[in-house]
Amino acid sequence: METLTASFFVRIASSIRAGYSTNMTDPIALVDRFGRRHDSLRISITDRCNIRCFYCMPEHDAEFLPRSGVLTFEEIERLAGLLVGRCGVRDIRITGGEPLVRRDCVDLIRMLARIDGLEDLSMTTNGMLLQQHAADLRAAGLKRLNISLDTLDEATFAKITRRPGVDRVIDGIDAAIEAGFESIKLNALAIRGLSESELVGLVRFAVGKGVTLRFIEFMPLDSDRAWKSKDVLSGDACLKLLSEAFGNITPTGRENPSAPAETFTLPCDGREGTIGIIRSVTRPFCGNCNRLRLTADGGLRNCLFSQSETPLRDAMRSGCDDDKLIQKIQQCVGEKHAAHGIDSDDFRPPERAMHAIGG
Ligand code: SAM
Ligand code: SF4
Repeated sequence: METLTASFFVRIASSIRAGYSTNMTDPIALVDRFGRRHDSLRISITDRCNIRCFYCMPEHDAEFLPRSGVLTFEEIERLAGLLVGRCGVRDIRITGGEPLVRRDCVDLIRMLARIDGLEDLSMTTNGMLLQQHAADLRAAGLKRLNISLDTLDEATFAKITRRPGVDRVIDGIDAAIEAGFESIKLNALAIRGLSESELVGLVRFAVGKGVTLRFIEFMPLDSDRAWKSKDVLSGDACLKLLSEAFGNITPTGRENPSAPAETFTLPCDGREGTIGIIRSVTRPFCGNCNRLRLTADGGLRNCLFSQSETPLRDAMRSGCDDDKLIQKIQQCVGEKHAAHGIDSDDFRPPERAMHAIGG
């Protein structure tokens, strides 16, 4: 487990200087007890999905929020506007469930892209509906895309997602490349007994397309609650398999201190490829976490693994003004734990599974 280090004390001091200003013109720094400044927001816009990945959703009888319980675009815009305009959030990632199953999702992107001060707007998608939406999303102001792809093999895809369609995802990736996003990354889960045979082919595919591939260690966020630590294919194991296949793998650090992925370059088919490893389980990066999450029904979460949420939807619907909402947001940040604690004996996974939190 990463410890909170010297930079932590520096950040504490700077956060005390930044203060918890309520002045309308100064951004209110969302700094927690450990000096971590929160300037990155993930917004889940639906808990529904068009596939059923076993590491996220149940195969049958998934329970979804009633439509009236989901934040409207105007409610999302209000909260995003407050977090960016008054609280110093700089980047927003749209996620789900599958964000592209939400009707008129492109309109929401257009609304969010207009928020003054927002530096980055991105989306994580399974790619199934990307072919028809990629160009419109780009034109609406979406800058970057992460597309999930665990395998190139149709039978394995169907085993993982309980639905057919790997070709649709690949068509979606091509459409995204064609649409000219600032960055496209592919995300593959690293699951023992499943991913070993996929890693090398996925790297070749990504390098051939000129995009970055990242391997994410499987986390205990499946709704079946079947996760076991032995099911995680560790970042170390991924790197070992890749170096056996490609030879020299060179570490190149992180894009920024809060970035979850450690990046590497490797030689692949006469090109230099870039890969990322996200060791959320075996080498957590909680000490540099800068993220907040808003669920589709307006729960603000200070961690993927937190056991509680701050319900902002009902506050907004009962007439709460902006200052009061900001106080609630600050309180949520203030309650954040030092680390997710997956490796501790008393770890309990959160009540909601990944699709209902927003990954
Ligand atoms: N439906 C979209 C997708 O799959 O890209 C967006 C939502 S999904 C919850 C976001 C990311 O979470 C995906 O990259 C997915 O692979 C990842 N994910 C889902 N369940 C996970 C788990 N148990 N452990 C680690 N990552 C997970
Ligand atoms: Fe759907 Fe994404 Fe969850 Fe897979 S990981 S079931 S695509 S929300």
